[in-house]
Amino acid sequence: MSDPDSPVVTRIAPSPTGMMHIGTARAALFNWLFARHTGGKFLLRIEDTDRERSTPQAVEAIFAGLRWLGLEPDAAPVFQFSRAEHHRAAAMDLLARGAAYRCYMTVDELAEERERARAEGRPVRSPWRDREAPPGTNAPHVIRLRAPQDGDTIVDDLVKGRVAFRNRELDDLILIRADGTPTYNLAVVADDHDMGVTHVIRGDDHLANTPRQMQIYQALGWSPPKFGHLPLIHGPDGAKLSKRHGAQAVSEFADMGYLPEAMRNYLARLGWGHGDDEIFSDAEAIAWFEIADVVSAPARLDWPKLNHVNQHYIRLADDTRLAALVMDVLRSREAHLPHDVAARLARTIPLVKEGAKTVLELTDLVLFALRPHDTPLADKARNLFTEEVKARLARLAANLGDAPEWTSSAMHERLKTFADAEGGFGKFGPALRAILAAGAVAPDLASALAALDRGESLARIADALSQVQ
Ligand code: GLU
Repeated sequence: MSDPDSPVVTRIAPSPTGMMHIGTARAALFNWLFARHTGGKFLLRIEDTDRERSTPQAVEAIFAGLRWLGLEPDAAPVFQFSRAEHHRAAAMDLLARGAAYRCYMTVDELAEERERARAEGRPVRSPWRDREAPPGTNAPHVIRLRAPQDGDTIVDDLVKGRVAFRNRELDDLILIRADGTPTYNLAVVADDHDMGVTHVIRGDDHLANTPRQMQIYQALGWSPPKFGHLPLIHGPDGAKLSKRHGAQAVSEFADMGYLPEAMRNYLARLGWGHGDDEIFSDAEAIAWFEIADVVSAPARLDWPKLNHVNQHYIRLADDTRLAALVMDVLRSREAHLPHDVAARLARTIPLVKEGAKTVLELTDLVLFALRPHDTPLADKARNLFTEEVKARLARLAANLGDAPEWTSSAMHERLKTFADAEGGFGKFGPALRAILAAGAVAPDLASALAALDRGESLARIADALSQVQ
């Protein structure tokens, strides 16, 4: 599949002006999958030319987001601002070729032309397109592309198919502002060219820039990359993804307890698919990924589906890794932790993880096992402890105490035999559950006993009984 003469080079080019958006993560994933699929490279460019809005924290959020997602670029990142001289050199080259010109319109003249252009339903035109400035002119000016005014600029989009833009509807793009700074489209073209980018796969909010960028490529005599514009990610209601849909930032998904491999799997399905496959490995996604299979309709974030995928990966995840993630959540909650928390998590996680859709849910499911054995019974629970029930629990404790092994299957057998002898689970189950759960959610009784182990289980029963004497 890979062409040794022109290996595929993809990139993402996020602007570091806030959080790392989930749409950027999805673009990174698709570029990464395509690069891996073709044996090419996946690069990162930080588009930090907006000096007011770019921040080091936002740059760090992009690095951290890609690291977390497991989508690290194949080379050191390129910082766009540091390349301003290259962008200016490209503009000078265009001037020398006659493909760009200096435009001396004043602010007022431009405002008037804008008015006229709006009234006549046409783009802004500069009189300097066809006029030479007198030699020695030193007035403030911008540099504009001498864009074609006839015909169409055709984008053969890898996702959307052929999209034609009428050249007469496009103005002569400013390449260099009056203060000497390069504009966005020029910088993108010069950088993509210098980075050897062969495929620009980005959100379709950039489609309108593409004819502009193609015109710059043509004017510079460079062959343009192929373009593929991805449908945006919308919320479950079909509206553009926003805060009220729950989350937008990659870091929020991490904080909500989604696993990176689940995010990769789920995000791959947002706009791309391989038949009806919902769950697949990275290796499968890499083998299957074709840009032609990306759909052009907007993708909707579907929380139940994401939860389903995440639950699958939590089930597969290594218990030690899950324990470390649960510990992070517990620490962030400043929860009081028993000294043997590691051992308790190691016993409990395998018994409860099946039911967890996120690491936050998993944390809630292990809390019962971390409570002190003398946690006071809730008032409501106290009513369960009739004399009869107390006597039964004492018999149960003695019975369990004799168990040669303390596994959930052994506990299951013991409880069943005990229940049969005592006239059913209803005779002691609710009280035992109140004791073991200690005010939290708890799994079935046998699993709860196994998670708590012999010492803690018997201590909880004894403590509870002493509380209701
Ligand atoms: N810097 C642009 C953005 O953050 C991306 C430009 C591109 O991918 O060409 O939306």
